[in-house]
Amino acid sequence: MSTGYDYSWFILTQSIIKKEFALSGSEQNPDLTGKSWRMTLRRATNKGAPAPVEAFKSHGVDFIVRDRIEDLVAEMNKLAGNDLLKLEHIRMQIEARDREIVNPYVKDAQVMNIHNARRYIGDRLIRTAAPHRILDPAQGPLIAVKLNILTRKTLGGFETDLDSRVFGGEGSIIPGLYAVGEAAGFGGGGVHGYRSLEGTFLGGCLFSGRNAGRAAAKAVG
Ligand SMILES: Cc1cc2nc3c(=O)[nH]c(=O)nc-3n(C[C@H](O)[C@H](O)[C@H](O)COP(=O)(O)OP(=O)(O)OC[C@H]3O[C@@H](n4cnc5c(N)ncnc54)[C@H](O)[C@@H]3O)c2cc1C
Repeated sequence: MSTGYDYSWFILTQSIIKKEFALSGSEQNPDLTGKSWRMTLRRATNKGAPAPVEAFKSHGVDFIVRDRIEDLVAEMNKLAGNDLLKLEHIRMQIEARDREIVNPYVKDAQVMNIHNARRYIGDRLIRTAAPHRILDPAQGPLIAVKLNILTRKTLGGFETDLDSRVFGGEGSIIPGLYAVGEAAGFGGGGVHGYRSLEGTFLGGCLFSGRNAGRAAAKAVG
């Protein structure tokens, strides 16, 4: 946000989106939730990404898919409604990155991390794309995604007691008012630590909801 813009851009290839894009929420991974070996193996062999990701790619308003970098950048500027992105500047950055990715003696820490991730078979098969040049047409088409900044989790909320009753400004309980889940900081932050590890939010929300329900039922007898 300090740049003055509430979005940034992400440029990748079909080969990268296929392995490295996942949508949060397990229902977006039909191969895993369907316990289908056939669909899971297809991840390794198909050129396409899992269907929900492909749907975003085809219909998402913030996704641009083009074969040529010239067309991609033109569409990116069109979508943003300005001409901030300069083709030659972007091409120069991608070419610099592509030079590193094919360099067998690369010292770039990010590229080294990609190689390292692929030493684990699980990541190699379904999570980390084989290093390749972004401008290699065989890995295309090119994809640009406009990343919009949003607040996804609150990490804070009303202060409550152990019965989920809300404390008012002066530190006294507000009668009859209960707060749970994200509204009470039970999504993350307090209950699971300040780092609020991914995947640990629902548990705290459910727990505090159950707790509040029990306390409210007890309060009314
Ligand atoms: C994309 C995404 C992926 C996530 N993935 C995970 C995950 O994998 N694992 C995990 O543990 N957590 C995950 N989380 C976090 C988790 O989903 C939330 O912390 C949790 O659902 C919050 O539950 P809640 O009941 O506190 O709030 P919400 O589920 O937000 O419920 C609040 C409800 O209040 C309603 N509401 C708002 N204002 C009003 C009003 N004025 N009147 C009436 N109703 C109103 C809203 O419509 C909503 O239904 C994810 C969150 C997001 C956004």
